[in-house]
Amino acid sequence: MSTSYPEHIWHNGRIKPWAEATVHVMAHGLHYGSSVFEGIRSYPTPNGQAIFRLGEHLRRLYASAKIYDMPIPYDLDTLATACREVIKANGLARAYLRPIAYRGLGGFGLSAETPVDVAVAAWHMGPYLGPDVLEAGIDACVSSWQRFAPNTIPAGAKAGGNYLNGQLVAREARRLGFGEGIALASTGLLSEGAGENLFLVFDGALHTTPVSAALLNGITRNTIITLARDAGIEVVERDLPREYLYLCDELFMCGTAAEITPIRSVDGRPVGTGQPGPLTRRMQSLFFGLFDGSTPDTRGWLDYV
Ligand code: PMP
Repeated sequence: MSTSYPEHIWHNGRIKPWAEATVHVMAHGLHYGSSVFEGIRSYPTPNGQAIFRLGEHLRRLYASAKIYDMPIPYDLDTLATACREVIKANGLARAYLRPIAYRGLGGFGLSAETPVDVAVAAWHMGPYLGPDVLEAGIDACVSSWQRFAPNTIPAGAKAGGNYLNGQLVAREARRLGFGEGIALASTGLLSEGAGENLFLVFDGALHTTPVSAALLNGITRNTIITLARDAGIEVVERDLPREYLYLCDELFMCGTAAEITPIRSVDGRPVGTGQPGPLTRRMQSLFFGLFDGSTPDTRGWLDYV
C-alpha cells in the first residue's frame, strides 16, 4: 500500500476513521504473531463492484482461527457485511481487502485467553509484483530458505507468523534482483512462492504442488483448477522436484494479490521460450474473464457490493 491511506476501516464492530484503528504495543499478536488474516480482491464488473469468492475467503479465516484455537467474536455474515461496507465507504473499485483477527490486549503468556480483535481494511491495488508483470512475467529464483516443516507451523493456516518465512523468501529474492522467490518444502520438493501457489505446464497439462507440500491451499489455485477442468484442461496435483521448474514448458504463480503472474525464468534459466506461454495466457483470459463477463460466473463466485 502507498502512504496515502483510505479514509475508513472496520474495527471491532464498526466503521471508523483509519487513524483510530490502533493496537496497543503490548498486544499479544504483535509479540507472538497470533493473528490470522485474509487477502481478498474486489473488481469492477459489468454488473457492478464484486468481491471475489468472499465466502470462501472468510471460511478460510475461520479455519485458520480454529487451528490456533482463536475464537473470532463475529459471525461470517457480519464480516462479509463489513467487507462490503469498507469497499463502499472508501469508494473503492479495484481493491484489496484485508480482514484480520488478532489476539489483542489482556493477559500475557503464550496460552493466555487474550481477547480477539478484528479489523477489515481495504485499499486500491493494481498488479502485486510490478506494473507490467501480468503481461511480461517475472524472473524468479529458488530461495535459500525453506518452508516450515510439517508439525512445526501449520501451512494450512493463513497466520501472521507464517509470513516471517515469506518475508525471508521475498526479501532475499528482491535483494538478488529477482521478482519473486520460490521455496522448497523441508522434503526438498517444490512448495510455493513467498505468497503464491505454483503451476507448471507439461504437454498441455497443468501440474501444481499438493497441500502436503507445506503450502497455503490457495483460493486462486482452486479457481484455476476449476476453470481449467471446466475447459477440458488436465490438472494434476503432485509432488514436483526443483529441477522441473527448469524443464517445464510454462510456469506461473497465482494468488489473490499476484492473480496469474507468468514466470519467464527461474535461477537464470529461461522457462520454455522465455515468454509467457499459450496455456498461461489462456488461464489469464479465463480468470480475468470472470470480471469482464467473458467467463460466466457459474458458481456464484462474484459477491456484489
Ligand atoms: N501461498 C501463500 C503463502 C499466500 O500468502 C497466498 C496468498 N494468500 C497464496 C499462497 C495464494 O492464496 P490465495 O489464492 O487464496 O490468495
